[in-house]
Amino acid sequence: MDVKDLIRDYFNDDEKRLIRRAFDFAKKQHQGQKRKSGEPYFTHCFQTALKLAEWQMDATTISAGLLHDVIEDTKIPLENFKKEFGEEIAFLVDGVTKIGRVKYRQQNGEVTAIQSENIRKMILALSQDLRVIFIKLADRLHNMKTLGALPPQKQKRIALETAEIYSPIAYRLGMANLAGELEDLAFPFLHQKEYKWLSENIKEKFEERQKYSEKVKIEVEKALKEHKIEPIKIDFRAKRYSSLYKKLFRTSMNLEQIYDLVALRIIVKTVEECYAVLGIIHQLWPPMPGRIKDYIAMPKPNGYRSLHTTVFCVDNKPTEFQIRTAEMHEEAENGIAAYWAYSQAKSGKDYQKKKAIFAEKKELAWINQLKEWQGETAGSEEFLQSLKIDFLKDRIFAITPKGEVVDLPAGSTPVDFAYMIHTDIGNQCVGVRINGKIMPLDYQLQSGDLVEILVQKSKKPSQSWLEFAKTSIAKKRIKAALRGLPSIMRGKSDIFEFKIIAEDRVGLIKDVSSVFSRSHINIQNLNTADMAEQSVVRARCEINEEKTAKLLVLKLKKIKGVREISFRRA
Ligand code: MN
Repeated sequence: MDVKDLIRDYFNDDEKRLIRRAFDFAKKQHQGQKRKSGEPYFTHCFQTALKLAEWQMDATTISAGLLHDVIEDTKIPLENFKKEFGEEIAFLVDGVTKIGRVKYRQQNGEVTAIQSENIRKMILALSQDLRVIFIKLADRLHNMKTLGALPPQKQKRIALETAEIYSPIAYRLGMANLAGELEDLAFPFLHQKEYKWLSENIKEKFEERQKYSEKVKIEVEKALKEHKIEPIKIDFRAKRYSSLYKKLFRTSMNLEQIYDLVALRIIVKTVEECYAVLGIIHQLWPPMPGRIKDYIAMPKPNGYRSLHTTVFCVDNKPTEFQIRTAEMHEEAENGIAAYWAYSQAKSGKDYQKKKAIFAEKKELAWINQLKEWQGETAGSEEFLQSLKIDFLKDRIFAITPKGEVVDLPAGSTPVDFAYMIHTDIGNQCVGVRINGKIMPLDYQLQSGDLVEILVQKSKKPSQSWLEFAKTSIAKKRIKAALRGLPSIMRGKSDIFEFKIIAEDRVGLIKDVSSVFSRSHINIQNLNTADMAEQSVVRARCEINEEKTAKLLVLKLKKIKGVREISFRRA
């Protein structure tokens, strides 16, 4: 643990001093504390900061990484901390602490897709600044590496949270390498048997494939030399256990059908060279139809760019090649962190070169994806300049006592929250406890608030609620209740629950939810449970008449692999 490892050559003297100060401070504050593994606690802070330094973050972020557990784990008041390290670092550390309070819980062993999505959004909303996410991801990575020291139940919860929440966030930020690493670290804790089967069956295959790849590499090098192409490097990439398992699951556990167990990766200098290399490979060996993928012309939604092809290679064995430039490679590994590094490494040697790449990427696919995901239309240039996540500023994410996340428009009150959960909860609401404290019903909710609605049977809503209720759903129901209409007439709609039994496959939930959204029906809750080779999906939604529900069944039947559909009034 040497502070020098955290200092990049592009930092000025002030920045270097800051990191040294944060290092000494964190070390002193955590003095005597031990991790469950028995290591000094400070090891964790150092490893988190080291990862951030590897991602070429700025000095502020690296310092905040060192200090990220100081407020939570020592008795230092936030005010004193601010005085010591300034508003910016205090803001980052506070952000990381807040995210840490969001806990992912599985309900009755069922994973709710919408809940996961809301938690991901909430984490982004709480972060406000992407640097908070980077610190949290670095923190989680080290925690996953040392997960073995924790009790089994905690292991499982943290592994699940990592696979369901943090790995997808990393993936959506284009940090594919990190996303895969997190998923792989979680895998043995979530699928013990499968992990054992895989590690027993794959080891020999891996070694065999490595040796084979060595042979192929020599032939490729020779051919490239003949065409006067000098690659930056050629290496092998072994497929990750977690993604291998997902793939095996889709191909009935047949290892022989996995062609990219070990893929050869060729890194060259220019885009032209990428295509030239693809041509050379295809001259050497015939390509397998349907396996040529041009992610340079058509990048993946998260911004991934590369050429992929599978050819009948040496000994007629199907072999995958990935061809890309060094820039594409760095982006594929580190995604948004790479761009962030470009934008801030102003004094770095490569700055001018990186700036040029950065400018070229203004219309990055992943930014569009991220915006689409959040339903936001602001200019990507604006977004890139700040790299702040304030496009979520219009939404509030509050938590129920059960840990469910409720997504509301900004300015919403406990009354809106109550009606969002259930009409009766809204009507019978008499008070609210926010983060354990009684608050007025017109209180404006903040992201991360824990909201506990106090109810009293046979209570009626008050006329005054209409003055501060924000959502139309709350207003509509307050008015209906005040008019004394029976519940079935209020808003003329009812809750229906659909049960869909289908063949278990990737993308099923997405297909189901898109049928609902295309029909302009909001799903309130979506559950899936896996049973012997099939999935049972339950979706609750509000529908005005039974005819609509029947129509929906017809549409749902068209989804691939659907076996049975039923619905009932909930
Ligand atoms: Mn930590």
